[in-house]
Amino acid sequence: MGRLQRILIPFLGLVLAFWFYSARENFKPEMLKGKRVIITGASTGIGEQMAYHLARMGAHILITARTEAKLQQVVEQCLELGAASARYINGTMEDMAFAEHVVKEAETLLGGLDMLILNHVGTSYFGYFNGDLGHVRKLLEINFLSYVAMTVSALPMLKESQGSIVVVSSMAGKVGFPFTVPYSATKFALDGFFSSLRQEFTMQSINVSITLCILGFIDTESAVRAAGERLLVQPAPRDECALEIVRGAALRRRELYYRHSATRLPLLLRDWAPQLLDYLVRSRYR
Ligand code: NAP
Repeated sequence: MGRLQRILIPFLGLVLAFWFYSARENFKPEMLKGKRVIITGASTGIGEQMAYHLARMGAHILITARTEAKLQQVVEQCLELGAASARYINGTMEDMAFAEHVVKEAETLLGGLDMLILNHVGTSYFGYFNGDLGHVRKLLEINFLSYVAMTVSALPMLKESQGSIVVVSSMAGKVGFPFTVPYSATKFALDGFFSSLRQEFTMQSINVSITLCILGFIDTESAVRAAGERLLVQPAPRDECALEIVRGAALRRRELYYRHSATRLPLLLRDWAPQLLDYLVRSRYR
């Protein structure tokens, strides 16, 4: 009987854990219907694809980036796909006042905010670190500080709606990557800030989820142009990646890994065999 209990109880625990986690995976597009969403860096790439998915799900969409002509096209497409509403604001995230302005516009135009998707990324070089301090500072402002500025401005609205913050990061924000030193630094900074903030939200019972997205190589034009010839891995499709982010955000996941096999699995080595992981990362480059 004792032996049976020793087997039965852990087995039941496993069944319950499986049931609990599968129940959480129950995503429905209706979850996003009517939600008020800001997506940054949505003129192209993964941000643009997220806008289209959210449009099909019937969300109110406010997108931003610098290039007005592209934003106009994305807004038109979103309206055709069924967005409850779609608008854009163009400007640069080098300017913290602009970052805050975008959030204020959501308040004026949408009357609140349910989801803040922080996705934009400043242009950097792909090569050995060149010692340019000015570039590191500028990239930190675009890729990190503007994310913080938008979060601070959006927090009152997100607390009210019990909403979500989505932070699009990278494998390069979890483990050292060659040829992207300034970029990688900005992504590590995001992990530190938002993972710590999540802890404080829990301690203060603030019901705003933070989903940190750890992405591998994705087939956006800018990424393929920068790294396509140097990387030995095949990029994953950006529309599928965008859908995974939207699903993870709707399910209020803590972290999201896409693709799982290229991100989550190698990261399991980080604490136990860091040099092996470093080697595996380097071996992905020509
Ligand atoms: P992308 O195609 O290069 O798009 C970047 C977006 O950011 C564009 O809409 C761009 O529009 C905007 N942007 C650039 N500089 C800006 C600035 N100064 N102010 C405001 N907006 C600015 O990038 P992506 O490949 O889709 O990447 C999206 C996110 O995924 C990023 O956070 C990136 O780090 C992450 N990620 C991507 C990959 C990948 O392989 N693609 C891998 C890991 C992580 P404008 O030029 O019109 O401003």
